[in-house]
Amino acid sequence: MRKYIPYGRQDISDEDISEAIKVLRSDYLTQGPEVPKFEESICKYVNSKYAFAVNSATSALHISCLALDVGKNDIVWTSANTFVASANCALYCGAKIDFIDIDKKTNNICIDELSKKLKLAKSENKLPKVIIPVHLSGNSCDMKAISKLSKVYNFKIIEDASHAIGASYDNSKVGSCKYSDITVFSFHPVKIITTCEGGVATTNNKKIAKKLNLYRTHGITKEFSEMHNTPHGPWYYEQLYLGLNYRMTEIQAAIGITQLKRVDDFVNKRNDLAKIYNDEISKEYFDLPVLTNLSYSSYHLYVIKLKKSFDRKDHRAFFEFLRDQNIGVNIHYIPVHFHPYYKKLGFEIGDFPNAENYYYSAISIPLFFGLKDEEQSYVINKINNYFK
Ligand SMILES: *Cc1c(COP(=O)(O)O)cnc(C)c1O
Repeated sequence: MRKYIPYGRQDISDEDISEAIKVLRSDYLTQGPEVPKFEESICKYVNSKYAFAVNSATSALHISCLALDVGKNDIVWTSANTFVASANCALYCGAKIDFIDIDKKTNNICIDELSKKLKLAKSENKLPKVIIPVHLSGNSCDMKAISKLSKVYNFKIIEDASHAIGASYDNSKVGSCKYSDITVFSFHPVKIITTCEGGVATTNNKKIAKKLNLYRTHGITKEFSEMHNTPHGPWYYEQLYLGLNYRMTEIQAAIGITQLKRVDDFVNKRNDLAKIYNDEISKEYFDLPVLTNLSYSSYHLYVIKLKKSFDRKDHRAFFEFLRDQNIGVNIHYIPVHFHPYYKKLGFEIGDFPNAENYYYSAISIPLFFGLKDEEQSYVINKINNYFK
């Protein structure tokens, strides 16, 4: 039997390994020099003023909401088609969550839907404080349009760019926060670069930066200038907010630094592989990825969609067939409002039809740096011949 081909996988170099070992032999396993060095290299790469590394993108989303003062009486909106973490962060803060349906072509939030929903929300006095656009697969949302709306309706923007380090939009790297307040990346092993677990939040705003920094370490400051009282002595620190311990370890940051050196290689290779899929997968049966105007995708995922003429049963049978061929396909994502926890909040099936239709037609197929030509040909063959 052929070896299982996953849909995504990390690529670890000898340098990643030797740098991780160096940390283990050093004085600091946490709170040493590697995390600030990693943050500096992120800032340089995406061209942001600040970056704060944490133990996951989920944590980064949480402290981002906290840094924008999301609380009990606030509303947050995100894409109906995303990983649950993009929505959970609002609930951690006690806020209300709602979703924006997706565009049928790009699978990212639909700008027309968003405009309509904002208009209605304004008339009902229920405008969101924060909107979290998700760059699905590494293809940026239409950030110019979202940013324009943010000025009209006065909301803040956190980009969930968990899929999108190495991607660009409007000739700027995603993470530069040109059209947002904060951008969040994930370094889970299936994403573009990895720190085993890990994430980062970038921003250009000094006030937001201060809060992100405090919220990730217990809300504690050691800066005399930020303190309310005169320091009792050189040991003194103060807790200003109810923060958390979301710190990234030194080992993770060391791996992040060496992984980041290869991010362009990773993304270029993913684009090369995507181009082969674009050229070779049958357009008779499948809709292939469509990028947003001005977007250069990092291709975290390659999602094919069964054409309208197929139904849920065909989709499931095709998915099971590919798994039986040892092809590690997956579905990104089950619409968030389908989950029992969200149903309890009052969401119903039918609320976001485009995200639901996407769910019944989409399949993520193998795409990662180490995917071999022979493996990709095998995948293409199995896909193209199934409906023949
Ligand atoms: C992976 C992912 C997250 C969460 O990332 P972690 O680092 O695993 O916490 C959040 N949002 C999206 C869209 C993701 O794909």
